Amino acid sequence: MELITTSRGGPKLLHEGYAYTKQRAHESTVRWECSKKKTAMCKGSLITDVNVSRVHAVTGHTHAADNVAMSALKVRKEIMDTAEASGGRPGQILADKLATCPLEVRAALGKRESLKRQIRRAKRGAAPPTDPRAMEGVPYPFPGGYGRKLPESGRPFITHDGESQDSRLVGFASDDGPEPLRAARGWRVGGSHSTAPRRFAQLVCVRVSPPQTAVALGRRQLHV
Ligand SMILES: [Zn+2]
Repeated sequence: MELITTSRGGPKLLHEGYAYTKQRAHESTVRWECSKKKTAMCKGSLITDVNVSRVHAVTGHTHAADNVAMSALKVRKEIMDTAEASGGRPGQILADKLATCPLEVRAALGKRESLKRQIRRAKRGAAPPTDPRAMEGVPYPFPGGYGRKLPESGRPFITHDGESQDSRLVGFASDDGPEPLRAARGWRVGGSHSTAPRRFAQLVCVRVSPPQTAVALGRRQLHV
């Protein structure tokens, strides 16, 4: 079982030659539907736990498993991750990855030009935003490229993004960050003005013991 992010930013689950898109999260389970639901009229589905670490139930598919297509999805994700992280030339990134790829996977990846376009888009999305001079320059909500995904789970690092008329509060947390906060008797809160982007009042870190866990929050400056 492997969780990847599609070019549109949504989660996709790969399991035994089938790809699934997230349908609904319940309190303790997540329901996934076959990504060929429309194209193959397939009713295949999966139920997993909320951490997507265990499969609880599988409903059968109307089409065969396709391991080549799954490999192509994984390679495509590796290519886009490399593009976001390294900033190399699209042609070079593509050549490096395709060199180690079996022929049938290469064919399933589609046209090189289309892949290059996707690489350019991934690089643009990964570019850090410039420090905005006015709040009007800070998009709401943040586009996908602004919030890095956590490598362990593929979940976004931004966990909360709320705007009211006069304030903007953004929360960041690692996957294992919130649980110690919930369990702790008390929090230690520290703010830093100098590391916050200039239109934000401060960066606040919430810490508990052990001290390696933190959640950071930024609040928009109300009066400059
Ligand atoms: Zn299916």
